[in-house]
Amino acid sequence: MGQKAWFQCSSGCDEKYELNEINYTCRKCGGLLEVRHDIEKLKRRKPESWKKLFDERYRKTRWPYGSAVWGKKEIVCPNVEDTNIVSLYEGASNLFWAERLGKMVGIESLWIKQCGNAHTGSFKDLGMTVLVSMVKQMISEGKEIRGVACASTGDTSAALAAYCAAAGIPAIVFLPKDKVSTAQLIQPIANGALTLSLDTDFDGCMEIVRKICGENIIYLANSMNSLRIEGQKTVSIELVQQFDWEVPDVIIIPGGNLGNISALGKGFILMREMGMITKLPRIVCVQAARANPLYQSYQNGFKEYHPIKAQKTHASAIQIGNPVSINKAIKVLKQFDGIVEQATEDELANAAALADTTGLFNCPHTGVALAALFKLVKRGEIGKDERVVIISTAHGLKFTDFKIKYHENNLEGVDPKYVNLPVELPPEYGLVKDAVLEKLDAANS
Ligand SMILES: *Cc1c(COP(=O)(O)O)cnc(C)c1O
Ligand SMILES: [Zn+2]
Repeated sequence: MGQKAWFQCSSGCDEKYELNEINYTCRKCGGLLEVRHDIEKLKRRKPESWKKLFDERYRKTRWPYGSAVWGKKEIVCPNVEDTNIVSLYEGASNLFWAERLGKMVGIESLWIKQCGNAHTGSFKDLGMTVLVSMVKQMISEGKEIRGVACASTGDTSAALAAYCAAAGIPAIVFLPKDKVSTAQLIQPIANGALTLSLDTDFDGCMEIVRKICGENIIYLANSMNSLRIEGQKTVSIELVQQFDWEVPDVIIIPGGNLGNISALGKGFILMREMGMITKLPRIVCVQAARANPLYQSYQNGFKEYHPIKAQKTHASAIQIGNPVSINKAIKVLKQFDGIVEQATEDELANAAALADTTGLFNCPHTGVALAALFKLVKRGEIGKDERVVIISTAHGLKFTDFKIKYHENNLEGVDPKYVNLPVELPPEYGLVKDAVLEKLDAANS
């Protein structure tokens, strides 16, 4: 292979393809592809030297290396020329020390990786910067790509629309009608994408977009395109970097299409191969109980797996019944001593709300992960002295409707325990003072 990184079949047949080929699955066996790097070449630089290089670039101004994805360009996508990189300064999201929440739950070291603190408000930016940059690279090489398309539960389309708008490339997004939040719907509209709202669910949108992209003039941006996984895997490297290159004990991540857990695992495996770390964390993947095909498979030791029809959940971004990266996810869970949990609507909403009272502002998917944390600590499967990281996948501001309805006790299937409604009063000092004192008394009692 002439190039530095390449696609390789992940189903064991090991067929190879160039990264600038328009191809998402293996032509020999139909398996998903995976980006591979020349590990021997990467190992010529010492682990300490890689860490130093990544630290020197982190959040600095030298374009594009101040982006926490492109600051790790050599192990993400070295095939793109710097002039073709479409970056909106992704990654470097806060690792929130959840000191109060940890104490409430009974663990000493709890951290929330705030991946939603991003340009379009979710972790999807990490992968989309790599995919759209590769598209720009291919266009510059003369490939005929007229647009980029994706099916989405709301966040992928927002990221695709923004990166394409920044690059001047047409974007086409397929959304399940009435199944995304207002903020998620307005993002691709504002960015000028062709926004198709189809009367189906995510899995239905996915089927159509695969056909449209089968014609090869429209490039597919879903996570079955493993270029996105390369950007998303930097979350593992970044969070280890944020602990001064120490590996945490447990990582809890919500899963829908299961690209993100595959990426999380891939980042750790790569760091270990390069000698940057020696141990691996335990990975917990959590699904909404109403969209839980991976959980069901875990229940029978992954011996069987059946796609399901996902039911409506407030965790709308993971309302997926037929996850494309199921095999990759199961492989990761086996390698990382994995656990799969689920959360009901009531559990996810109350977990998000309780954590909000400690200074967070959680999306429902982060609520799914938090609910699993509470259960696993209670069952003793996570120890009190373990260092735990929750992957928060989107910004709560994308889901204000969910959050307002929670406090109004207007969410289906949820009995809200932490309601805090605005107090409406006439503008009279005495009444206002009474309300303030009542609140302070309650807080101090
Ligand atoms: C996409 C998304 C997920 C799920 O990620 P997968 O890779 O599909 O498993 C979880 N939460 C949010 C907010 C998302 O946008
Ligand atoms: Zn193959």
